[in-house]
Amino acid sequence: MAVSDHVNLAQFIAGVERRNPGQTEFVQAVHEVAQDIFGYIEDKEKYHEYQILRRIAEPDRVVSFRVCWEDDNGSIRVQRGWRVQNNNAIGPYKGGLRFHPSVTESVLKFLAFEQTFKNSLTGLPMGGAKGGSNFNPKGKSDHEVMRFCQSFMTELYRHVGDDVDIPAGDIGVGAREIGYMFGQYKRITNRFAGVLTGKGLEYGGSQIRTEATGYGAVYFLQSMLEHVGDSVAGKRVVISGSGNVATHALEKINQLGGKVVTLSDSGGFIYDPDGINDDKLAWIKHLKTVKRGRIAEYAEHFGGATYHHGERPWGVACDLALPCATQNELLSDDATTLVANGCIAVSEGANMPTDLAGVQVFKRAKILYAPGKAANAGGVAVSGLEMSQNSAKISWQEAELQSLLIEIMHGIHARCVEYGGGDGDTYVDYVRGANIAGFVKVADAMLAYGVV
Ligand code: NDP
Repeated sequence: MAVSDHVNLAQFIAGVERRNPGQTEFVQAVHEVAQDIFGYIEDKEKYHEYQILRRIAEPDRVVSFRVCWEDDNGSIRVQRGWRVQNNNAIGPYKGGLRFHPSVTESVLKFLAFEQTFKNSLTGLPMGGAKGGSNFNPKGKSDHEVMRFCQSFMTELYRHVGDDVDIPAGDIGVGAREIGYMFGQYKRITNRFAGVLTGKGLEYGGSQIRTEATGYGAVYFLQSMLEHVGDSVAGKRVVISGSGNVATHALEKINQLGGKVVTLSDSGGFIYDPDGINDDKLAWIKHLKTVKRGRIAEYAEHFGGATYHHGERPWGVACDLALPCATQNELLSDDATTLVANGCIAVSEGANMPTDLAGVQVFKRAKILYAPGKAANAGGVAVSGLEMSQNSAKISWQEAELQSLLIEIMHGIHARCVEYGGGDGDTYVDYVRGANIAGFVKVADAMLAYGVV
């Protein structure tokens, strides 16, 4: 086989831009990974010869489909659904479904690309995928959500399967939506198979799946702090988001003796200088999962708290920050403010919440910074364990799963240190560590398969 001409990073990114016009989030995600991988593979000719990075940055397939449903007024609504299957070199495709008006093909391609590295980092045999729709569940009745989910699955079922592709939840897709979709899959196929994760405990779900992403992001934070002889106890913490990941991150921070002073949603953020204790957290979980209300209501309910409309919480002074809402919610000015205010560690519960310039600010300041693909991998890891339980037709106890989650997060931390340490001091470049550790396993499997 002919040895390929080496392109440089700028040429490579220019090619990605040319092949994916207007897909800014996807190009951003590839750029973030490629800048680390280029250095690593410089002297490793096989990866160049077999065009491994170029191949990982081209999804195996992108399926796009129409989703029609009827609203409560009898009007016919038409949405677009997607499943992006990025890479299945090390296991069946795996990644969440997102229902949000901001969903585009670019967003899902970025998420599926990231998922490939994240799943590899967990050490479990899972490939990378992502899917979803521009459907907005907010303000819809349960019946409308059900009809949408059924229609979505009526097409999706052709592309997924317990050994093929196993979707899970993400923004706008929680236990309710997974239940409706699983019910429809079962009805169409007449199979009770582990084709979705995040299922209810009554029908094949796993203990701690709901908590796993938020808890995992805090376990990763804890590992980073322990690596430099510090801990979460007594720290002031800023969290964005108020969904699944944010609320469980908060719960774990409280258990470890930290004090969380903010949460947010797409309307703005609340600041509670007294800290959001477990009672207040229970109120928030009810607000968000049962009442489906806005975070602004927190400040009306709890004296001493304030609501900041249209703002994000990064201006609030803190020791630790956990962005747990969405992509590109923490920009370089926010990163500069966090560092100036004394923040010592950032652990990303969300996917790509910090933009490229913000990441550079954290790296230059040499604070502890964990990218989402490492820090929020606990969710997909427990999804992987849900798959194992479904295959074996068994259910593991909560305590066993808790210790497996902790073990997996420690394992990811260790892999990041292995590939991201080595500046001659204790500083670990967790971005580089996660990118390279995630890449190597997928790349070596691809080499084993030859050109396919
Ligand atoms: P949820 O839908 O439960 O919560 C999302 C939260 O983020 C809500 O508070 C939502 O506010 C807020 N949000 C969403 N979009 C925006 C926006 N454009 N601007 C500001 N706030 C926004 O989702 P999850 O908690 O499950 O997911 C949060 C993040 O974590 C995502 O990046 C997701 O990809 C990532 N993640 C989730 C995993 C999981 O297991 N659930 C696994 C790994 C990563 P509002 O209600 O107003 O929209």
